[in-house]
Amino acid sequence: MTQTSRGPRIRKSPKWLEARRDALLERKGELEHDLAPDPSLQQQPEYLSPEDQAVRERENALQTRVSGIEAEELGLVEEALGRLDRGEYGFCQNCQKQISDARLRAVPWARYCTRCQRSLAGEATARDGGGGKDRLRRASTNLQDLLGDREHELEA
Ligand SMILES: [Zn+2]
Repeated sequence: MTQTSRGPRIRKSPKWLEARRDALLERKGELEHDLAPDPSLQQQPEYLSPEDQAVRERENALQTRVSGIEAEELGLVEEALGRLDRGEYGFCQNCQKQISDARLRAVPWARYCTRCQRSLAGEATARDGGGGKDRLRRASTNLQDLLGDREHELEA
């Protein structure tokens, strides 16, 4: 009698899962550190020139956008740690199939398999593979754009 596989089967070794947990915890620590309030930003000088005030406001706006991206990622990391604890880690949240090892190594907090990620993200990201990695790459591209804009404005 041949064994037919129905539904997800966990084939990951405990060692492999621990490595993913380590990666997730490391990322979580980085994100929490980044998201912690910076004491230097809390200390408002008594007087800011209008120019300084404008720069400060732009910096704050930039920081808010960065924090939004990082807070979103932190949420994904925490979700993934929860799935690890429940023994559900590594399965697509959409189709319940196993997410590839390569994808999980690259994006330990991935929620979806590459296929579902593509269909959920739509055609725009399908071309370059979709996935959380691309989302992050887009996020960092946005950051570069923002920083570029800011430098340009300061020069003007
Ligand atoms: Zn899937």
